[in-house]
Amino acid sequence: ASRATAGVRRLKAYDPGHDLVALRERFGELALVELGSNENPYGASPAARGAILDELHALHRYPDPRGGVLKRALAEKHGVDACRIVLGNGSHELLMQLAQVFAGPGDEVVFSQFGFAVFALATQAAGASACVVPALGVDDPMPLGHDLDAIAAAITPATKLVYVANPNNPTGTWFARERFARFMAAVPPDVIVVMDEAYAEMADAAAQTDARPLLEQHANLVITRTFSKGYALAGMRVGYAMAAPELVAVMERVRESFNVNGPALAACAAALGDEAHLAWSCERNAEQRVALSEALRSRGLRVPPSQTNFVLVELGERTSKIEAALLERGVVLRPMRGYGLPTYSRITIGTRDENRRLLAALDEVLA
Ligand code: PMP
Repeated sequence: ASRATAGVRRLKAYDPGHDLVALRERFGELALVELGSNENPYGASPAARGAILDELHALHRYPDPRGGVLKRALAEKHGVDACRIVLGNGSHELLMQLAQVFAGPGDEVVFSQFGFAVFALATQAAGASACVVPALGVDDPMPLGHDLDAIAAAITPATKLVYVANPNNPTGTWFARERFARFMAAVPPDVIVVMDEAYAEMADAAAQTDARPLLEQHANLVITRTFSKGYALAGMRVGYAMAAPELVAVMERVRESFNVNGPALAACAAALGDEAHLAWSCERNAEQRVALSEALRSRGLRVPPSQTNFVLVELGERTSKIEAALLERGVVLRPMRGYGLPTYSRITIGTRDENRRLLAALDEVLA
């Protein structure tokens, strides 16, 4: 380890929170209520599944290194030119590459406290310095959310990159595009702003979180999205970034030539063609988000508002004990100890049946 760079030496390997393979064996896959990883329980579009099967004859071939078909489908969906799109092995990979490309030793990267965990990881791996901006307070209408004014004020001449997530994980909080437009106007044009929109498809239209209309105006804006959440293709590992063609061209230089595999490219292109499935699963999620938030609040628990497929819930001093007791009952949540929020748990919004089983177990544990 001593041979690794200073940034890498301080890194910890990803901790999924639980050994899910062992838990599935212990409880049986159907009995286990997996609400720890913000996965979409409604599953991928049947068209995406079919597209993967159609790719099986070509497993001995390398995939299209340009991902042309998928890029064209994305370009059409978003109304942008394909030269504004770069594909990643999950948006996680793109978030890492953005720091690798734009920030090095001596440079600063700014992001919010309780911002998506990969922001800190990417910054450290690149050897840059993290400037962590305090989050909004617990009594703010967006408890623990991004304080955009403070983030803009934290930018110095050494700042190369700013990461924001909208909506954010693990807080679930968001800000409106109008607010973000004012933020962008305050950021110097030589500072790159990465807007992580992993949960974009799951946010209500009324929340107006979508930053796409700002892309044309701001050559320093990068929007990342993923097929892992709304499209329920987390296992395929595909994300993409939209940005000015010059930025995309630089990103294209560092990515591995075949970073998105053939079945994944085919599945995502097919998923884009099935808008009804996307809408159906996001509607189910939004319904359950309201129902689960209300059910938790009616038990006297504090739940910050969310526009995602998870909620953060304050369980207080007994959080670890409650989490352990739920796990004994086959209910998996994501502990927030390692995220600086030890009195909170993050609960992925499941199907109606999963949420009912979660609440029943919680009632037993809290009784
Ligand atoms: N951004 C946010 C805010 C996320 O919550 C996640 C997944 N948990 C990602 C990015 C990465 O997703 P993926 O690599 O699957 O695209």
